[in-house]
Amino acid sequence: MASEKTRAIVLRLVEFSETSLVVTLFTEDFGKVGALAKGARRPKSPLEGALDLLALIRIVFLRKSSESLDLLTEARLERRFRSAERELARLYAGYYVGELLSELTDTGDPHPALFAAGDQTLAAIDRGEPLAETVLRFELAALKLVGHWPSLAACVGCGRPVDGGEERVPLSMISGGVLCGDCRPGRRGVVGVSSAVLAALRTTGEEQQPLPESWSLAPDVRGELRAVMNNYLTHLVGHRLRMPPYLQ
Ligand SMILES: [Zn+2]
Repeated sequence: MASEKTRAIVLRLVEFSETSLVVTLFTEDFGKVGALAKGARRPKSPLEGALDLLALIRIVFLRKSSESLDLLTEARLERRFRSAERELARLYAGYYVGELLSELTDTGDPHPALFAAGDQTLAAIDRGEPLAETVLRFELAALKLVGHWPSLAACVGCGRPVDGGEERVPLSMISGGVLCGDCRPGRRGVVGVSSAVLAALRTTGEEQQPLPESWSLAPDVRGELRAVMNNYLTHLVGHRLRMPPYLQ
């Protein structure tokens, strides 16, 4: 059994026995990890104070082979996610970031840049940064980092350039990109996207990730992009996500 050290974001805590928890962590170096935290529910356990939902923690864990859970042996709190005490909308946004980190990655598949984006986003939510933009910025960064950024310049059906000069451009949720007029007919899961949202996506796609904190959108573009993201991510993960209905 190898002993590993890394940082992690706490995604899920499930009571396992009277004294123990099963924790799902998104770690910086090992991706998503499921681990048993023995004795974590005991009042004076060294793990107890650190295992808080969406907290950033520093951990030591023993990697188990094959199917069994890893074993969490040390956990130290680096930053608690404090929005729970302040504003429900920010708490929900935090849960949503956690949901995406979990849904967009597989167990044991490292994504250090996604970890950094998630960590920065949770800190930005806690600091009181504009909420809708902070969440959208994370979603766009996450799509890029896990390799699901939509094709925005070339038709996903035939590869022909799609200029976006028209009023609305068809965006295929299933194929993950824009469609030309010839490829559009007969396809399911297509949403007409305004040229303003397409332009925002294209600009975003060219920028460095994560996007700067000054990044902002006009309210109508923001609202439409929110709806497009809900739809796009539902198709990507294969089911409705839990938190989007609670996002403003
Ligand atoms: Zn086409």
